[in-house]
Amino acid sequence: MSRYSALVSRLPAGIDALIVTSEKNQRYLSGFPFTDGYVVATRSHGYLFTDFRYIEAAKRETRPEYEVIMFENGNRTALVTEKLKNDGVKVLAYEDNFLTVRELEGLKKEFPDFELVPVGTVLEDMRVYKDEEEIASIVKAQRIAEAALEETLKRLTPDMTEIEVAAELEYHMRRGGAAGTSFDTIAVSGKLSSCPHGVPRNVKLERGFLTMDFGALYNGYCSDMTRTVVLGKADAEMKKVYDTVLQAQLAALDAIKPGADMGEMDKIARDIIYGAGYEGCFGHSLGHGVGMFIHERPGFSRLWFGHPLEAGHVVTVEPGIYLENRYGVRIEDMVAIYEDRAENLTKAPKEMIELF
Ligand code: ZN
Ligand code: ZN
Repeated sequence: MSRYSALVSRLPAGIDALIVTSEKNQRYLSGFPFTDGYVVATRSHGYLFTDFRYIEAAKRETRPEYEVIMFENGNRTALVTEKLKNDGVKVLAYEDNFLTVRELEGLKKEFPDFELVPVGTVLEDMRVYKDEEEIASIVKAQRIAEAALEETLKRLTPDMTEIEVAAELEYHMRRGGAAGTSFDTIAVSGKLSSCPHGVPRNVKLERGFLTMDFGALYNGYCSDMTRTVVLGKADAEMKKVYDTVLQAQLAALDAIKPGADMGEMDKIARDIIYGAGYEGCFGHSLGHGVGMFIHERPGFSRLWFGHPLEAGHVVTVEPGIYLENRYGVRIEDMVAIYEDRAENLTKAPKEMIELF
C-alpha cells in the first residue's frame, strides 16, 4: 500500500483532507525533500504544491500518487482551495504537532472556506512502522557514523577540545556521505560526562570518561549511537561502572525480540544497574524510536509497560550510569524488529578502551 493510501485509510472519520506543512512529514509522504509548499492528501487525490525553485526536481522525485502543482504569481491559496473544493473537502486537518500558533492563525486566514481541525497522531502512528527501504537508510546512516567514529578515535589527542572531537565526528560523517547530523553531537569528558545531554565545551579534554553521542542523516533518516571511552587509565570503580552499563545493555539486547514487552526490556537493564548499587543513577528511558526524527514513537521505557515490540520498530538501547559531579557512562545501539527476530544495527565495538 502506498503511503498516500495508508494515510487516507488512517484519517479519522469526518476529516476530508490533511495539509502537511512540516518538512519531514512532507518528505515521508511524497518522497520529495523541499522546504516551501504543501503536501495535501484528500480522500481522492494527493497533491504536492511548490514553487519554481523546486519544480523540476519535484516532478522527477515525487511519488506517483501525488500531482505536482507549481505556485505562480502569488496565487498559492486560490490554487489549493480550488483543488480542495473540487475534491469536496469541507473539513481540513492540520499537523497540530508542528504548526506554531501563528502559523495556525495564518492557515485559518488563508483557508476560510474550510473547517480546520487537528490531525492528532496519525502521521506519528504511521512512521512507527519502518519498511525495508527505511531501515536500509537508517543502517547506511549508522555505517557512516561508525566509520566517522573510527576516524575520530585515530585522530584523538590529549590536547583536543570537546568541540574539536564533536567537529571531527561531524566532518567525517559528512565526508562519508551524510547529509548532516541527526542531532547536535555530544562529546563530553571528565566531570561533564555525568550529564547525559551535556554540551561540548571549548576546553581541553579532561582525563576520565569521554562520552560521544552522535548520528548521521542519510536519505532523510537518522542514526543514533553512543560510545564511551577512557582517556587515561580507568580505576576499579570506573571499570565497574562501565561493565555494569555494558552488562545491562547486553542483557536487554539479548531479551529484545518481536512481542517482548517494552517496559520489561527497560526493567531488565534497570534491575542490573540498580542491583549493582547505582539506583537513581540511570534517570532516563532505556531508549526511543528512531526514524526521520531522532526521537520517534515508540518510547522505550517504564511508561510503555503493556506495549510489545512489533515488526517495523527501530529503537535505541542506551542504558547509562551518571554519578553527579564525578562521571558518567552510556552505551547506545540501535535495534530493528522484524516479524521473526530483532537485529542489532550497530556494529561498532563496545568493549572498554583506554586511550593516551
Ligand atoms: Zn544517542
Ligand atoms: Zn538515543
